[in-house]
Amino acid sequence: MLKPALRRAWRNLQFVQFGAAPAHAVVVGPVDTTTGSLLTLFDGTRGLELLREEARALGLPDGRLEALLDRLAEAGLLEDPVAGAPATDALRGESGALDRLRADLGSLSVVHREPGGAARRLAARRGMRVQVRGAGRVGAAVAALLSASGVGRVEVRDGDRVEPWDVAPGGLPAEAVGERRDAAARRLVGRSAPGGRAVRDGRAAGSEPGLSLVVVAPRDGLAAYAPDPVTADDWVATGTPHLYAGVIEATGVVGPLVLPGGTACAGCVERERSDRDPAWPRMLAQWRSGRRSRVPACDQGLAAAVAGLAAAHAVAFLDGELPASTGARWEVSLPLLEWRSERLSPHAGCPCGAGRRPEGMRASGPASGQDTMAG
Ligand SMILES: [Zn+2]
Repeated sequence: MLKPALRRAWRNLQFVQFGAAPAHAVVVGPVDTTTGSLLTLFDGTRGLELLREEARALGLPDGRLEALLDRLAEAGLLEDPVAGAPATDALRGESGALDRLRADLGSLSVVHREPGGAARRLAARRGMRVQVRGAGRVGAAVAALLSASGVGRVEVRDGDRVEPWDVAPGGLPAEAVGERRDAAARRLVGRSAPGGRAVRDGRAAGSEPGLSLVVVAPRDGLAAYAPDPVTADDWVATGTPHLYAGVIEATGVVGPLVLPGGTACAGCVERERSDRDPAWPRMLAQWRSGRRSRVPACDQGLAAAVAGLAAAHAVAFLDGELPASTGARWEVSLPLLEWRSERLSPHAGCPCGAGRRPEGMRASGPASGQDTMAG
């Protein structure tokens, strides 16, 4: 079937465009009238045999159908419901899970071109284990979003009890005020899971998969804005990818996504910043040791935007891509809210080793872009 997630429109009598947004739109053509009729049959209700019969009835020569299907597949326009079925069977088993994820599946089908690729990626998310550090407005919402996106194991780590200002739509609910933060976040994760599964915290029986990713979303946004290299030591040592996200004052931050040894880590960022600004270490020491205000400044909309973007970056990474936060930081400040990005260079003096590679790991996602197809 043609991917139903992509809108279809004839640009003129001969060329048909699949998809409205340029990032994934594809123009196909020139298409003759008979082939155009054939296209309308690729709606997933017919198997290959039946399609062959219909093609013959339309007077198309043998092999024309297969050639057309090959070209559509090459252009990333073809979905194969049969090929994707084994991957989604597990989700089908959980009541309503696949229906809850159907829109996410549609999104994956737009991004990933090969037939069946969307279903395979969605199924793979179930086997992923992600830890979210921090259960404030940003952290709790990130955890809920990851769980809702089909990530199988989402653990949340935080201390103390839920404060009234931790409450956020999509995050911790008002009823949780006064509860232990980690317990409240665990329930939120369970409730957000597409299968409606109860509490899942990676403590389930059976073999424990390693962490695919840590999302560092501290309630005190300083730890995301100027991440402490000591906290990241273990992740760097074990090669665990980690992504920073948070709100500090009236600025939201997403990134960097650190691939230890490949892209700039917290240590690289701190060294690089100190090279540029000799006063930086002194200020950092004061910020980190100083008495913090009990209620961190945090705008609801900004926190939701940061959480949403961070979760999307995290899921893109889990799906096998290197999102734009890889080795870079995206920042946005109230009230103008213009996103800006800063590339973070690995530092030669950092023990993580990224700065000693000839070239930091580069984003190499398959940029699909505009595609044209003749035939
Ligand atoms: Zn480093």
